[in-house]
Amino acid sequence: MQINVSQLLEETIGSTREYGVNETIDMAGGGCIVQGGVELVRTDRGILVKGMLRTTVEFKCSRCLSLFGCPLALNIEEEYLPTTDVVSGAWLPLPEEPSCFTIDEHYVIDLTEAVRQYMVLTVPMKPLCGEDCAGLCPHCGHNLNQGPCDCLSKEIDCRWSDLSKVDLS
Ligand SMILES: [Zn+2]
Ligand SMILES: [Zn+2]
Repeated sequence: MQINVSQLLEETIGSTREYGVNETIDMAGGGCIVQGGVELVRTDRGILVKGMLRTTVEFKCSRCLSLFGCPLALNIEEEYLPTTDVVSGAWLPLPEEPSCFTIDEHYVIDLTEAVRQYMVLTVPMKPLCGEDCAGLCPHCGHNLNQGPCDCLSKEIDCRWSDLSKVDLS
């Protein structure tokens, strides 16, 4: 997910470029397709990248433990700072924020790391395959989304037989 910004760096502040994104990035051992678009804006310090990207990440439902694809929307907005002067080619002093994203010496922005970080931030704490996920039966572990198990009817059977004992005595 690399974009060469050497031309944009030479333009005036406020100049923009738009790029479509449709790439696969590695996330937690699996490939995630990331799609959408970003706008690149020349700022006084570097390049501001903003846009909306969409991807689908596979999660394990916290209630029924089944795997499901969860769509994530990544609202990206990050400023990338140059490490090399675009006119002279000279090294620039490193930015003060150590965590900030940088434009490499070939004037290339790599969005992959930012996308990964946004994905981690967007991941739900307790993912659910659906708002109405029925979860697992606490007795037999059956996935109740696939229909009821017979635990409930067994409980009713037990009560009936107790009653009949009482009746008999
Ligand atoms: Zn579930
Ligand atoms: Zn059950």
